[in-house]
Amino acid sequence: MCLYGCPYGLIFNAADAVDRMVRSGGLTYRPGFHAIRFEERGDGVRVCSARETVSGDRLYVACGVLSTAMLSLRSLGALGQRVTLKDSQYFFLPMLQRRGSGDPSREPRHTLAQMFWEIINPDVNPQTVHVQLYTYNDTYAPDMKRRFGFLAHMLGPMTEMLSRRLIVAQGFLHSDSSHRIVLRLEGGHGSERLVYEAGQNSATASAIVRASRAVSRVGRLGGLLPLPPLLRTGSLGSSFHCGGSFPMSASPNGLDSDVLGRPGGLRRIHIVDASVFPSIPATTITFSVMANAHRIASLA
Ligand SMILES: Cc1cc2nc3c(=O)[nH]c(=O)nc-3n(C[C@H](O)[C@H](O)[C@H](O)COP(=O)(O)OP(=O)(O)OC[C@H]3O[C@@H](n4cnc5c(N)ncnc54)[C@H](O)[C@@H]3O)c2cc1C
Repeated sequence: MCLYGCPYGLIFNAADAVDRMVRSGGLTYRPGFHAIRFEERGDGVRVCSARETVSGDRLYVACGVLSTAMLSLRSLGALGQRVTLKDSQYFFLPMLQRRGSGDPSREPRHTLAQMFWEIINPDVNPQTVHVQLYTYNDTYAPDMKRRFGFLAHMLGPMTEMLSRRLIVAQGFLHSDSSHRIVLRLEGGHGSERLVYEAGQNSATASAIVRASRAVSRVGRLGGLLPLPPLLRTGSLGSSFHCGGSFPMSASPNGLDSDVLGRPGGLRRIHIVDASVFPSIPATTITFSVMANAHRIASLA
């Protein structure tokens, strides 16, 4: 949903913004243009797909962190060089409402988070822990049936009833408390592939324990019954909040970007997605990615 927006058009959808800019004449959209290489030439830039080459004064790259890494490493001739993608580790903690509040399946609703909690407590984590609370969703009961199999079958209608009282807390950690993904481009000219390796962070497991205990404490104050045995930890990269592979720096080294998102000493090519974040916060990142892209495009 975040990537494509609401099917009923009720929340922001980037495609609507693109359509608006195209209609106003400020943007030419070329569907199917898959960038495979960029380069700076004199006082301009070129970006090539398999079919055509487009030239301009400046290039802004926002292909999403993996595609941006592939495109940039290939274009910078950085075969075999390692870049580190910082991740935001997440976990799920289910909780039950002690008291029912009608039948949520009959209420008009959406699948977005209903509430955010920010845990700002250095005893829990040096950086903020971000928590999103999801209330009733009609995928809960089928998920419980799949997960608890025969037990859920025995409980029958109880499973439906429990799913109506279920609140799922999704907690996120800052990248300093999360594992990392090390990326490098391998292969010969024209057949490169991006290779991934996990970079373990010894602080992550204990940070999840402290954060989930803090969520449980707050949940109990709000009349919820936390279910710690059902705590689930997301696998590396599955939070979809990652970046920092070409981090912005006031004094960039190697493939780092400068404060205008230009990696490896480039002057006219700017990365404007989460790849240039110095770190990944626990909070949702898309709005900050958009704000940073706007800042770079305004200043460049
Ligand atoms: C299930 C899910 C839930 C999420 N929930 C949230 C949330 O609640 N809040 C939040 O802030 N974030 C959320 N995110 C994260 C958010 O979607 C991403 O942070 C955001 O989309 C990143 O934006 P981007 O512009 O960097 O990349 P993308 O949105 O991935 O856009 C990259 C674009 O570039 C195109 N592209 C890729 N390669 C090439 C190429 N070589 N040539 C030309 N075009 C190319 C792609 O087709 C795509 O259109 C969620 C992500 C997922 C998957």
